[in-house]
Parts: sequence; C-alpha cells; structure tokens
Amino acid sequence: MTQRTLVLLKPDAVRRKLVGEILGRIEAKAGWTISALELRTLDQETLEQHYGEHKGKPFYEPLVAFMASGPVVALVVDGERVIEGVRQLAGPTDPIAAAPGSIRGDFGTIVRENLIHASDSEESAIRELKIFFPGLS
Ligand code: GDP
Ligand code: MG
Repeated sequence: MTQRTLVLLKPDAVRRKLVGEILGRIEAKAGWTISALELRTLDQETLEQHYGEHKGKPFYEPLVAFMASGPVVALVVDGERVIEGVRQLAGPTDPIAAAPGSIRGDFGTIVRENLIHASDSEESAIRELKIFFPGLS
C-alpha cells in the first residue's frame, strides 16, 4: 500500500543538527522516497492551520511559538505504509515514554521539543500536504 506523508523536522532538530541523522533513518527504509524537501520558517497562519485540532489546549500557544522559533525541514515521503512507518520511527509524543531506537526515544526529553512531526492518518496526510506542499501532484 503506497502512501504519502508530511514530515516536519522541528526547530529543535535543526538547531541540534540532527537533520542528517533523522533524514538518514527515513531514507534507509526500503522503498521509501523523499519527493519534496525544504528548509522553511513557518508563519502563524500555517501553524494555526496545521495544529488547528489542538487550539484551546494548554500546550497550544507555546507549541506554536516553538514551531515558529526557527526553521523546520518540511518533507514529503512516499512509500509502502509510510504514514504508520514514520510514526513508528518517531515514537510516541512523550520522548521519555518513547523506546530507545526511535527518533524521539534516542534524542528527546521534552514533550514539546520532540524533534519530528509526521501525519497520523491518511486524512491528516491529505490535509497537511495541502497546507505545506499545495503544488504537489
Ligand atoms: P504528535 O502527533 O505525536 O506530534 O502529538 P500531538 O498531535 O498530540 O501534539 C502535537 C505536538 O504538540 C506534539 O508533537 C508536541 O510537540 C506537543 N504536545 C502534545 N502534547 C503535549 C503536552 O501535553 N505538553 C506539551 N508541552 N506539548 C505537547
Ligand atoms: Mg499529531
């Protein structure tokens, strides 16, 4: 089942120079292809659209501020079961709960600064890809 997902390497990943490490883990998966990739600083409007489901939650405002605090690497990945697959590579939201071997488990400690975003379903992927890469066919 070939899918497409939206991945963001968050500002902490860029600041900590973990971009190569994280991209390497994604690239190493058999048959997955990075089909778009860009370093980009996100504006308020983009972040409100992207994280709309969390608006009103206590972590929402600091999350948006963090996500705008420096450039992210936005990428599109295509491949076999890639939506579930990148979520597995990332590990659970809380890096302390994430197993060693996962990106969050290996490099994170802070829930907000958990290095990576990846679409959580086909519906989310379609919605998020439209926000970040509207021109992609
Ligand atoms: P994800 O799909 O695993 O990224 O997690 P969510 O969609 O639930 O939350 C979006 C992002 O908000 C997470 O990746 C974290 O950066 C942040 N976040 C989520 N829950 C919390 C929380 O309880 N506290 C804090 N500080 N940040 C959170
Ligand atoms: Mg999410």
